[in-house]
Order: sequence, then structure tokens, then C-alpha cells
Amino acid sequence: MGRGRKVEASDMTLPALFVSHGSPTLVADDVPARAFLAGLAAQFPRPRAILMVSAHWETEAPTVGAAARPGTIHDFYGFPDALYQLRYPAPGDPDLAEDIATRLTDAGFAAALDHDRGLDHGAWAPAMLAWPKADVPMLQLSIQPNRDTAHHVSLGRALAPLRDEVLIVGSGNATHDLRGFRGQAVDAPPFDYAAVFDRWLEDVLMASDEAALIDYRRRAPEAAPNHPTEDHLLPLHVAFGAGGKARRLHGSFTFGMLSMAAYAFD
Ligand code: ZN
Repeated sequence: MGRGRKVEASDMTLPALFVSHGSPTLVADDVPARAFLAGLAAQFPRPRAILMVSAHWETEAPTVGAAARPGTIHDFYGFPDALYQLRYPAPGDPDLAEDIATRLTDAGFAAALDHDRGLDHGAWAPAMLAWPKADVPMLQLSIQPNRDTAHHVSLGRALAPLRDEVLIVGSGNATHDLRGFRGQAVDAPPFDYAAVFDRWLEDVLMASDEAALIDYRRRAPEAAPNHPTEDHLLPLHVAFGAGGKARRLHGSFTFGMLSMAAYAFD
């Protein structure tokens, strides 16, 4: 697992990723972001496991899902019935979960294990497109919205050595103003306030500007309107901390206000 030796980002087999998961309907919507996710797995070697850092699991302390057979959590309301029938039966990896929790504890985090937690739609919805066979073990790590962005970058940094066999995926949204939904079409053109934040984010990531990313709420244009709460951006901070140089893998919008941007951190 590389524990104990100095790990250079460029040594690692796998990048850390950030993907925007959009609406739960993305699994069926015919949009560029769906096509992008469907081709994602082919871009990288097959990992031992996928560690999903989803916007939809919030806890006080970093918590790793350790179920051997994680269930599928349908944590959304008012969507078509068919979405509630979807199951994503990827196995867990309890031994790896324990290793990750130990690694985080060693790095000074009050990490915990959750032996019952299933996979929420921030994890399974993009995974259903990218790894439709559900044959790669999948684990989740929670975010801590009561902690700041720097905490999440540090969390990612502690996970970085895993990248020799684990694909770390932050799953959130580059912009996430759900109040901006007024019934517009999924392929509506991007709203200006979302586009300007999305461009700022791309520039900061391409420049590996950690200070700006950590301080995005004060420095970025339209930060608060695009992220009324921070939960959908914090997985990006984890992926940034876990990886090296950024590459933009995808850019598009759904519903005008959801940037579906995705990045690899090699
Ligand atoms: Zn979400």
C-alpha cells in the first residue's frame, strides 16, 4: 500500500478524480455529461477499489463505509419511480476500509468506520454509468461540512498513498445552485453566474493554486450563489489534496445551473 515510504504524486498508478454527479436523472438523460461518465473507466487502469467521497454523506468525523455488501440508498425525493428501483450491487472491501481509517487516524484525524452504511446516489449514480458491471469494490468516505476547506484538502493528502491501487473519486458538483431550477430543460444553456464560477474554478485548478481553492468563498466570483452550502464542492477539495496536477476531463452544464465539470489530479 506504500505506507511508510515517501510518495510522489507522479509515482502513483491512478489519479484522483472529481466528477459532478448532477441530478439523479442523469443516469437516463441524454446529455454530454452522461456520455462522459459512460467512457470514464476506460481512461484508467482497473483499480482494486473505488473510494467515493460523496457530497451526500455528511458526518462530524471522517467516516469510512465498511459494509461487505453495501446497499443502495435512494436519498432523493420526488423523482420518477424507476429511479427508486435502481440497485448498484458493487461489493465493499471491509479490510481496505479498516486500512483507510487507520491511515486517517495515523494522520491525526478522528476517523471512524460505519459497518452498515450503503452507497448514496452521489456514489452509485455516476458509478452506474462509469462501472455499470458493479464489479469493482466500492467504499465511501464522508465529508465534514462543519469543517473548512483546508480540512478537506488535508484529508485528501492523507489518502494520496492509496492511489497505487485505489481510485479516489470526489463526487459533487462544480456549481450547485438548486434554487436556480425553474423548470428549465436539462440542456438549457449555462447561466452567466454559474459559467463565471466554473471558469474561475478551472483557472485555479489548472494553476494548482491551493490557496485560492481553499479561500474560494472569498475569492471566487459568485461563490455563495453557486454553493449556498459547501457540501457539493468539498469532495473537490479532497480530490485536489489526494492528487497532483489537474487535468480537465469534461465540461458541460445541465439545467443551466449545474456545471458538470470533471477533473483528474494526476
Ligand atoms: Zn448531489
